[in-house]
Amino acid sequence: MDRNALTKRILIGMASGFVLGSLLHLLALADDSIITLYLVDGLFDIGGKIFIASLKLLVVPLVFVSLVCGASNLGDGSSMGRLGGKTIVLYLFTTGIAITLALVVAILVEPGVGIDLAEQSSFVARESPSLKQVVIDIFPTNPFKAMTEGKMLQVIIFAILVGVAISKSGEHGSRMRAFLLDWNEIIMQLVLMLMAVAPYGVFCLMLTLFTHQGYEVIGDLAKYFFTVVFVLLLHFTGTFSLLLQFLARLNPFNFYRKMSPVMVYAFSTSSSNATMPVTLETVEHRLGVKNEIASFTVPLGATINMDGTAIMQGVATVFISQAYNIDIGVVGYLTVIGTATLASIGTAGVPGVGLITLAMVLEQVGLPVEGIALIIGVDRLLDMLRTAVNVTGDAVVSTLVAISENRFEKEIFTARSD
Ligand code: ASP
Repeated sequence: MDRNALTKRILIGMASGFVLGSLLHLLALADDSIITLYLVDGLFDIGGKIFIASLKLLVVPLVFVSLVCGASNLGDGSSMGRLGGKTIVLYLFTTGIAITLALVVAILVEPGVGIDLAEQSSFVARESPSLKQVVIDIFPTNPFKAMTEGKMLQVIIFAILVGVAISKSGEHGSRMRAFLLDWNEIIMQLVLMLMAVAPYGVFCLMLTLFTHQGYEVIGDLAKYFFTVVFVLLLHFTGTFSLLLQFLARLNPFNFYRKMSPVMVYAFSTSSSNATMPVTLETVEHRLGVKNEIASFTVPLGATINMDGTAIMQGVATVFISQAYNIDIGVVGYLTVIGTATLASIGTAGVPGVGLITLAMVLEQVGLPVEGIALIIGVDRLLDMLRTAVNVTGDAVVSTLVAISENRFEKEIFTARSD
């Protein structure tokens, strides 16, 4: 199917799921009504869950095969090292800008001033991983265990090692590479097959979510909610456009147009990981980033780069400090910039994890972790928006790295219909 037609159908699926779900929510059907029981929590919930499951199904094989091909094509360990360094620096840089924007706007807007703490629900903090553990966990001990448990950083390291070894293994390596290249094509076909049913999957996800999720939760938290939304938009339209326009010399509008299906996937699944197959396919085949770059930068980004999450954490920290009337001072804010940037590395690309790693940021600056209870009500809605920003950030950095490495195909980027 024509890609533009598919994009339209995905957007229609999203919009109609959203409208219908919101209508059902307004009707406030009882939990045991036939529509809720058999359609919303029955048929559509099953449809949505199967759709997410099939996206996740492709993540590990896709990352492994694609990255082995990419790393073996780059040839040697030193190119891989240069690429890795550049990518990580850019990811940290964009996340640093995101969190700084969040802090500045939140300090000006003061979303937490005048919040009544008495009425809020309680929150039991889940333990967030320590920084030490995050670093140790990057290195695999058993590649199969890493794959079955979906430990993406470990899978990435293993795939790079295999790829580099293939490039050093002469004839044996070439045979294996040809075999994996065939597999890569087959897995990409699987991604395309899945994308063909995406309008229905996205419809199911949006419908079930918005039937249960109303806007009344925003209530008292409107100031917090809209501050996060504003900074997400600012980073999305401001930082990303500037980077694309001035560093990459590319038209940001064309970039956003091509990325729009990926954003819808991220929005409706709230998971950078589940979106990864579509991000990778789009970054390679619609934006023009070559496989040897995209196969590394996209999975890495989905795992460690979370600009949207950092924005939520920045605004949330200011909000909680104001709600509890605790001034964390300039050093506190600088600590937030550092910790939130690192916390985004430890935040897995799955729904709601940003809230767990927020505990790590709050603890660093001595704010009460229970403060998370204040914002939990609107987090589901914000999670959708921030995940869309997270994956867009991955694609922006992938494009910048590809251009700097001379592995970018501009004709693909400028092609109008594909
Ligand atoms: N849902 C986000 C993602 O997958 C992570 C988070 O902020 O909770 O990118």
